[in-house]
Amino acid sequence: MSRPEAAPRAVALAGNPNVGKSSLFNALTGLHQHTGNWPGKTVAVAQGEYAYAAARYVVTDLPGAYSLTTGSEEEHIAADYLRAHTDACLVAVCDATCLARSLPFAVQLMQRWPRVIVCVNLMDEAQKKHIAIDLKKLEKTLGVPVVGTSARKEKGIREALDRAAEVMEKAPCVHSVRYPAAVEAAADRLEPLIRKKTKGRIPARWTALQLLDPDDDLLTSLQEYLGFS
Ligand code: GDP
Repeated sequence: MSRPEAAPRAVALAGNPNVGKSSLFNALTGLHQHTGNWPGKTVAVAQGEYAYAAARYVVTDLPGAYSLTTGSEEEHIAADYLRAHTDACLVAVCDATCLARSLPFAVQLMQRWPRVIVCVNLMDEAQKKHIAIDLKKLEKTLGVPVVGTSARKEKGIREALDRAAEVMEKAPCVHSVRYPAAVEAAADRLEPLIRKKTKGRIPARWTALQLLDPDDDLLTSLQEYLGFS
């Protein structure tokens, strides 16, 4: 088999702890992986490689996190990574047995980065618990590719690879999620104020939506970043 020669494409796995990111990472990379500390951080990050359909991929298993706004070391690593790999496809991994808990982080990610697929993992566990998930409907609602996987059994991996490759072929596109009318109306009022105050340094709509979901850590980070006393 001839080796694909083009520069490798970047893929990163992101999600809450325990959603099966490492299992997915192992299923993708097999033995072609190594773990090291992120530059300047105490948190270890695994990186590996795989080849699929004549392309090479470098995959990074980002540390588990719950949000992008609490300022934790894990989040800084995710932010560093994404700044350095603007073309990367982010695989937002969720837990099928508690989708309501793990999906908000995926939604946050898809509003910030242009190439995202959502991977609903632990589908086998959900099936055992008689939890039915309509992946097609979820995909339609979110507007990004959604795949179901059982990483421990290496099921659904091929579809995840196909969808990630597909996303990387397309033009980048940040997704705007439509919220209930009252939330949209409040965000519409906040956006111009944020734009004026931040002079485009941070995305106004995203910030407005985060402010509508009260979070002391976010307020502190914004105050520090914007230099408010
Ligand atoms: P991470 O913290 O997101 O990296 O999650 P891990 O990959 O370490 O997985 C957490 C636990 O869930 C481990 O015990 C895995 O074996 C298990 N696990 C991961 N994916 C699956 C899956 O698809 N099905 C089942 N049944 N267990 C899984």
